[in-house]
Amino acid sequence: MSAETAREVVVEVRGVHKSFGSLHVLRGVDLEVRAGEVTVVLGPSGSGKSTLLRTINHLEKVDRGWIGVDGDPIGYRAHRGRLYELKEKEVLRRRTRIGFVFQNFNLFPHLTVLDNLVEAPVSVLRRPRREAETTARRLLDRVGLSDKADAYPLQLSGGQQQRVAIARALALEPKVLLFDEPTSALDPELVGEVLEVIKDLARAGTTMIVVTHEIGFAREVADTVVFMDDGTIVEQGPPAAVLDAPRHSRTRAFLSKVL
Ligand code: ADP
Ligand code: MG
Repeated sequence: MSAETAREVVVEVRGVHKSFGSLHVLRGVDLEVRAGEVTVVLGPSGSGKSTLLRTINHLEKVDRGWIGVDGDPIGYRAHRGRLYELKEKEVLRRRTRIGFVFQNFNLFPHLTVLDNLVEAPVSVLRRPRREAETTARRLLDRVGLSDKADAYPLQLSGGQQQRVAIARALALEPKVLLFDEPTSALDPELVGEVLEVIKDLARAGTTMIVVTHEIGFAREVADTVVFMDDGTIVEQGPPAAVLDAPRHSRTRAFLSKVL
């Protein structure tokens, strides 16, 4: 077995289907993300990218199929081959295995930057506040915002808010970080600082799934590029294959519009 295949699978998506009413949004999705890998998901609007991330996080339940994060489903306990739904509190605790960074930052506006980072470790993981603050300050330093600990989110630029959101996601020491178009809501001149932080995390070996339209970023950072269309993964592989020599006409059509 090569070193590559020996890496543990952190996120495993098997045969996942999801409908909203009569709208069949995920139509049999299979995806495997291994420790330390960056997977970039591309695809047209409405292809199911956000829904896929939300099912991984158990913000949406799947209709069919299985999703494991670090070996377990987020919303269920497996016992003798059957799945039992977990209580909301247990789901919240398991969900800390996943960090989620949204397009619109979703910071708590009434809390300072520091308290945004301290809240979940204290309330969900029952960490002592002092310890959570020490971690929070270290993470703010990591995203270049150690001087903003006492500011409120709305006093920051969009790029700074998104860097706080990334630090907040890291505060729970997740096994994997999910990003849903983390730079789409930003003014163009602020995109770079956020992508830089994500690149730093990639270099440090953070396992990530990043939905983005930033093709240059995908080329530079992704281990695997996944192209989704109409609720299925049409094609996936290393960036050089999917971006420069796509095999499917739908991938080619999409890339010709965004490149
Ligand atoms: P993407 O992120 O690729 O743009 P989404 O996963 O957000 O795509 O959406 C895929 C499809 O599912 C879209 O047609 C969208 O309108 C629909 N959809 C997403 N969430 C819901 C929901 N909660 N209820 C009904 N339809 C939804
Ligand atoms: Mg989306």
